[in-house]
Formats: sequence, C-alpha cells, structure tokens
Amino acid sequence: MRYSWLAVLREALRNQSGWQPAWRDAAPRDAYDAVIVGGGGHGLATAYYLAREHGITNVAVLEKGYIGSGNAGRNTTIIRSNYLLPGNEAFYEWSMKLWEGLEQNLNYNAMVSQRGVLNLYHSDAQRDAFARRGNSMRLHGADAELLDAEAVRRMVPYLDFANARFPIRGGLLQRRGGTARHDAVVWGYARAADQHGVDIVQNCEVTGLRIERGRIAGVDTTRGFIRAGKVGIAVAGSSSRLAEMAGMRLPIESHVLQAFVSEAVKPLIDTVVTFGAGHFYISQSDKGSLVFGGDIDGYNSYAQRGSFPAMADVMESAMALMPMLGRLRVLRQWGGIMDMSMDGSPIIDRTPIENLYLNVGWCYGGFKATPASGWCFAWTMAKNEPHRLNAPLRLDRFRDGAMIDEKGAGPQPNLH
Ligand SMILES: Cc1cc2nc3c(=O)[nH]c(=O)nc-3n(C[C@H](O)[C@H](O)[C@H](O)COP(=O)(O)OP(=O)(O)OC[C@H]3O[C@@H](n4cnc5c(N)ncnc54)[C@H](O)[C@@H]3O)c2cc1C
Repeated sequence: MRYSWLAVLREALRNQSGWQPAWRDAAPRDAYDAVIVGGGGHGLATAYYLAREHGITNVAVLEKGYIGSGNAGRNTTIIRSNYLLPGNEAFYEWSMKLWEGLEQNLNYNAMVSQRGVLNLYHSDAQRDAFARRGNSMRLHGADAELLDAEAVRRMVPYLDFANARFPIRGGLLQRRGGTARHDAVVWGYARAADQHGVDIVQNCEVTGLRIERGRIAGVDTTRGFIRAGKVGIAVAGSSSRLAEMAGMRLPIESHVLQAFVSEAVKPLIDTVVTFGAGHFYISQSDKGSLVFGGDIDGYNSYAQRGSFPAMADVMESAMALMPMLGRLRVLRQWGGIMDMSMDGSPIIDRTPIENLYLNVGWCYGGFKATPASGWCFAWTMAKNEPHRLNAPLRLDRFRDGAMIDEKGAGPQPNLH
C-alpha cells in the first residue's frame, strides 16, 4: 500500500478501515541467501539496499527484541556530515545525500528536518580548527559556514555568550544538517524492505554462528538453526558478543550513552546546537521536548541505563550554555549501548571468515550514518568487496596503522 494524500483522503472517507500493517511479522524460514543480525537502522537499511540495489531479496533480518529497541530508537536524532578526515567526510556526505531523498524513496515520512547543525567555538584555536574542518567539508561537496559571534547571536540569542570561562566566539554551521525521527527511520526501512520480500523476524536472538571449513554456514537462534549464504552483523553495542561467537576479538568497547528529554515547551530551539567547551548537544522535538545528551558514561557496560555522574555532567554543560534550562524539568532519561571503536570511526568490512561481514564502531555517529551504512554494507555483502566509500573503514586498519582518528584522541574510546 502506497502512502499519499489520496490514501489519507480515501481512508478518512471510510473510517480508516483500509490501512494495512506496515510490514509482515515473518516467521523464520530454514534458509536464506543472506541473513542480517540486528534489526536496528543499519540492519534494516542493509536489507533494503540488498534488495533494491542488488536484487538480493531472499533475506532475513533477525532481531532479538523488537525492531528499533536498540540505539536506533534511543538516540538524539541528529544528522550531519561535518567531518574533517577524507575517510569519514565522503562517507557521511553520501549519507546526507541519501537522507535528502529518503522519504521519497521509502514512501515514508521520516520527519527529516534540515534545520541546521551549529557547532559553537569558544577560542581562536577552536575557530581555526573549525575553519579547517569547514574547508574540508566544502572540498567534499558539503556545505559549511563559519559564523562570528554576532551571526550566532542572531540565530540563538538566548545562549550565555559572555560566560566568563567559555565565551561564545562563533560557530561552524551546516545548514543541511538537522534531525530525523528515529523510530520512523526504522519503520520506513522495515516497510520498504518488507515490500521487496525481506523477512523481518522479531524476538529471534542469534545465539551462535556456525562456521564450516572457514566459511559461514548459518546462525543458531532461539527459534532454531537458519542456514545462510552470507551473514552480516549489525548489532551495534552487542558486536563484541557476536564476534566472539565466531572466535573474533574486535577493536571495540561497549559503553553506555544517555539521552534526556525535558517537558514540552513552546518552540524555542529551531536548530541543533552543540557546545564547544564540553560535550553537549541539544535540539527540540516536534512535540516540544528539548532533546539533549553529552558524553558516554566512560566505563564498559552492556547495560541500557546510565550513572549519575554522567547525568550531572550533562546538566552542568546545559546550564553553562543555556542558563534558562535550569527552569525546565527533565521528563525522561535512558541509555543505549555504544560500540566505540579505537579511533572513533566505524568499520564496514569483510571478516577473515568467508561470507561473514561486519558493521560496527559507530560511536556517537551511527544514526546519521544509517542510510550510507546500509548502502555500503549491502554493496560489500553483495559484491564481496568494499565500495570506494567504505574502503577506508576497514577492519585491518588497526593492525596496519591506517587509523581514521577524527578527533586526534588516540585509542581511547572515552575521549572520542
Ligand atoms: C543515547 C544515544 C544518543 C545518540 N545520538 C545520536 C545522534 O544524535 N546522532 C547520531 O548520528 N547517532 C547517535 N547515536 C548513535 C546511534 O544511535 C547508533 O550508532 C546507531 O543507532 C547504531 O546502529 P543501529 O541503529 O543498527 O543499532 P541498534 O538499533 O542498536 O541495532 C542493533 C540491534 O541488534 C539487536 N541485537 C543485538 N544482539 C542480537 C542478537 N544476538 N541477535 C539478534 N539481534 C541482536 C539489538 O536488539 C538491536 O535492536 C546515539 C546513541 C545513543 C545510545
């Protein structure tokens, strides 16, 4: 069923009786050409692009809970392509382009809102670093504008510009950046993949990977063994666990990252603002809540809830940037399991096991990467070789030293 204004009108006239479920709740079959483990944004996008771009439709996405129950449904919804290094920027700019056509392609309202992403700078040195980053973005075809303090004040006048420790000197603005409704992205990809014949199997946990003579043969699940020609792992924070099933140890640490929403208020922030003197980002949802977050909790964990010190740190940053936030009540808070890589950049690659593929290491940037991640992972699985865009995001870069250390923080996930 296609969604359109005509369909809305038709259903309005017949008491909304004609809507169909957006996707089938499929039962697993015995065998597939390709199995994707993980029903988050990346897994579902991969299945969709495998079917749409490569004609591989005998595909199952296996999800241990319900789709979108992981980080895809827990993030702060920011999308942008404002990276510095070539290994990242070209990839994330491709993602931005896919976001721009996503709703038409999926025939689904993912509430993609290009309301701009503004990164504040607070010193001359930081301005120079942002100027360099902006130049790099422009060289890759992305948009970037370096704003002085007055221009920032015109956009967001309520920030604490004269903060004694962190005066706001200006910002790097990417107007094409913004937000998208995270659940809708999951549902949109699920629906579109299902329309191509992909089986989306929920409540189906992968408990083992079967390898025969150096080649993947299938997956053991809580709903029985499923034979598979190819297997792609896209389980974000659970990646180390899956890799362990195949005898691999990944250059990944799992950490908790928290997100917060306030009570709903009238329109206040019509862009995304990030603090340059601490790790803090904020936007406003369409329901009116302010949505914000900060750093990971900084200890290894597979839990989906965070600790008080990280919470206090986020609130402190909020108050330093926008003192009026102190009058708001926080409504909800939650955590997600972050797959932090050792250079802060992702991995989309083959593995030493034939026909077993890996999609991991998304750190803070996995939501915005969803379209390009699925697109490149599908390419890599279909052709058994990386696309030009994900060729630098290879697994063996940690052995060979070809790191993509965007922040220059070295192998310390807590600093990325
Ligand atoms: C609080 C928070 C805020 C964030 N904010 C942003 C942001 O603003 N912008 C941005 O770009 N990124 C952000 N991110 C990062 C982004 O959400 C993730 O990088 C991205 O969602 C990861 O990819 P995914 O959607 O496929 O992961 P997930 O949604 O986590 O999908 C993985 C799925 O695998 C399933 N799974 C795990 N083990 C198994 C198994 N054994 N068998 C079957 N299924 C299994 C899980 O249940 C899960 O549903 C944020 C993350 C968090 C936690």
